[in-house]
Amino acid sequence: MTTVLVLNSGSSSVKYDLLEPDSGTSLVSGVIERVTDYRQALTAVFAALPSLDGLLAVGHRVVHGGNKLYRPTLIDDQTIADIEELSPLAPLHNPPAVLGIKEARKVLPGLPHVAVFDTAFFHDLPPAAAEYAIDRDVADTWNIRRYGFHGTSHRYVSEQAADFLDAPWESLNQIVLHLGNGASASAIAGGRPIDTSMGMTPMEGLVMGTRSGDIDPGVITYLWRTAKMSVEDIETMLNRRSGVFGLGGEIDFRALHKRIETGDEAAQLAYDVYIHRLRKYIGAYLALLGNTDVITFTAGVGENDAAVRRDALSGLTSLGIEIDEQLNDAPERVARRISAERSPVTVLVIPTDEELAIARACVDVLG
Ligand code: ADP
Repeated sequence: MTTVLVLNSGSSSVKYDLLEPDSGTSLVSGVIERVTDYRQALTAVFAALPSLDGLLAVGHRVVHGGNKLYRPTLIDDQTIADIEELSPLAPLHNPPAVLGIKEARKVLPGLPHVAVFDTAFFHDLPPAAAEYAIDRDVADTWNIRRYGFHGTSHRYVSEQAADFLDAPWESLNQIVLHLGNGASASAIAGGRPIDTSMGMTPMEGLVMGTRSGDIDPGVITYLWRTAKMSVEDIETMLNRRSGVFGLGGEIDFRALHKRIETGDEAAQLAYDVYIHRLRKYIGAYLALLGNTDVITFTAGVGENDAAVRRDALSGLTSLGIEIDEQLNDAPERVARRISAERSPVTVLVIPTDEELAIARACVDVLG
């Protein structure tokens, strides 16, 4: 049996998944929380693995690959230096990934380590979608563009959607809504992403668990100049105390719904702002694609929250989108259709599996 170990070293946790890339079976997975020492965390990961027999490679999820790193990459010292160099673009994400990679290479020096980048799928976004309308020289000097994130998931889910519909990936126009704690939308025309909601950092776009998503940059300069907040405080506020949590006091949608049921107005507002933004992006992507074949919900909220799916797409029959309430409410955990038979646009729920996609990318790299 051949296995791949997938590691996702974040700012406060290390997630691991030992899986069998052919069958997609996960043998063991887990998360080490409250990480301060990556050596200790990695030691705990390896202690949790049943066996390293048959381990082919270690796949590392890396959030930001910048302009240069977009193919799954066999890691050497230069790759690590390149990822480190990108840290200013992803200060919350790339430094822990580098620490995780360094420690994992020390523990398993004989094995190939592969980096798979969250930005990769969106590397070739059309310039009209990738560029911010700012001073060209500033943008070029500082590598400011829209990179997009969750790319591994958007790609995997859109491929699964094509499989589900028994249609070639290249033949479909798709909208993918990855709604987890982080949330992003993408428009994919014939297997090629033409827009995505996250930008230079994973802060742009949809309302998220704790991130604001789109915000007028004037708010930031105002808070800095007039409210005298430091850049760090503003960044922390926008990343950790905003979004659904900032408005409604809850990160988890299950808790948010409970509060809404008790008549909690803050929770209701959080939900309404979340849905409003989501509908704006869906509308925008319907217009960009011109003709949409399939809309797919994925990740924690997208896979589990029937109310979010219903409210995101209600009243769009005139645009060819009609949900079947019964199918939408069925609490199944497999890929499934939730649109009415007569709905011209097919709506799907597909569980994402970024770990499996990373494991398979490792196998591809190693030939
Ligand atoms: P991450 O972005 O951290 O990978 P996930 O994709 O796992 O996040 O999504 C986690 C979120 O999914 C939770 O915070 C919660 O809001 C939501 N979620 C999970 N299960 C359910 C459920 N049964 N109903 C509604 N929301 C859920």
